[in-house]
Amino acid sequence: MIPKVDVILEREEIQKLIEKHGRSTVTDLIRTQLDRVRNEISSCGIEAQAQERIDAIVPDILEAADRFYTLNMRPVINGTGTILHTNLGRSPVSEEHAERIKEIVTGYCNLEYDLEAGERGERYSHFEDLLCRITGAEAALAVNNNAAAVLLILSTFPKGSEAIVSRGELVEVGGRFRIPEVMEQGGMVLHEVGTTNKTHPSDYEKAIGENTRVLMKVHTSNYRIVGFTEEVSRAELTELAHRNGIAFVEDLGSGVLVDLEKYGLSHEPTVQESVRAGVDVVCFSGDKLLGGPQAGIIVGRKKYIDQMKKNQLLRAIRIDKFSAAALELVLREYLDEEQAVNKIPVLRMISRGALEVKTEAGELLGMLEARNLNAEITAEPCESQIGGGALPLERIASTAIVIKSLGMTTAALEKALRSAKVPVICRVVNDRILLDARTLFRGDFAVIADELEDILS
Ligand SMILES: *Cc1c(COP(=O)(O)O)cnc(C)c1O
Repeated sequence: MIPKVDVILEREEIQKLIEKHGRSTVTDLIRTQLDRVRNEISSCGIEAQAQERIDAIVPDILEAADRFYTLNMRPVINGTGTILHTNLGRSPVSEEHAERIKEIVTGYCNLEYDLEAGERGERYSHFEDLLCRITGAEAALAVNNNAAAVLLILSTFPKGSEAIVSRGELVEVGGRFRIPEVMEQGGMVLHEVGTTNKTHPSDYEKAIGENTRVLMKVHTSNYRIVGFTEEVSRAELTELAHRNGIAFVEDLGSGVLVDLEKYGLSHEPTVQESVRAGVDVVCFSGDKLLGGPQAGIIVGRKKYIDQMKKNQLLRAIRIDKFSAAALELVLREYLDEEQAVNKIPVLRMISRGALEVKTEAGELLGMLEARNLNAEITAEPCESQIGGGALPLERIASTAIVIKSLGMTTAALEKALRSAKVPVICRVVNDRILLDARTLFRGDFAVIADELEDILS
């Protein structure tokens, strides 16, 4: 009773599908669907049920085609209140920058071409001077991400030589990226010193031997050790490293270029502070608190950066043209701090006042109330967080739209929002849906209202 592929291909709805997407993929979709029905029917003893499955073949194929031809990677609405949400792509690019990136990548560009000399140029040239000007460093470089930056730095020192790290700084970043393991991969021998809570200058000093090439400091960006603690200052480590003729390297993790204290957050060490303290090589992420593209940025002494530029590994982890274009654009904003805070989406979200967020939440609430949804909807105070393994203890006062459906469970509503055409990712707290207005864009409001109306009516 199962129809043949040829018969299904003749159906009008299927013909329309073929016009749009071509014959071969549609035929594949039909075959897959028929195989599934054949399997299901062979284990189904009731004829009426089998008939139902067969009748549903064409609608099922259309649905499968709809799923197949919807792009997998797509925009989502971030209602979680976590600003640097690693699972949601960390930092968004501004419209203005996206327009410019589009101009660059839709044609050819001078990625590695020196327009003045008319010969091969360096892809780092587009942002090296900017990085030096902003951070005060002698030279700079960028690679695929900060994990790659750490790997490149360590593998630039002789294989088997030692790097000294405090036991309080042996960080695991998300995705099982662990400092001790990266060291091994980079060919350096890890020499741990001190204890989890306290490390003294003498711990480093005693550990320095003939084979030591690096003192390494890792910013514990995603956790805090509080209480009876002590770490060695950058100034002391610089002095110690230079007295012994070795390099002082710092993995800053997030890497901020503006002092966030001005915007009500706790102090996060800036890249400028590290450079000023005399750290030889500093690396940090492009898409954490910097608010730029995925990248690992390395700044520091020219001597070391030049060695890294000659390292074979660099070729495998170099920054691509999309990110290089985005990085130059974002760094340019930092030439004027006020401009950076207003124009870089991540910094804008962090620095927006609680009152401004509350007013916008009120606007969204008004739009939802006008739709007569079958739910209790209120605006309530909540707390946003930075995310992306930065400032783990920080909470920013914000306002959430809180939804309790009267006709469906909270779990079902959460799933429906997540499965909507533009998926809305939210938090569930005390059996209610929370949409934190701090991470919503203005353009999200109408989409949320339309989708909630679809789901709740
Ligand atoms: C986040 C982080 C990294 C990894 O950076 P990615 O850009 O995600 O590769 C490395 N070290 C520290 C301390 C970090 O916080």
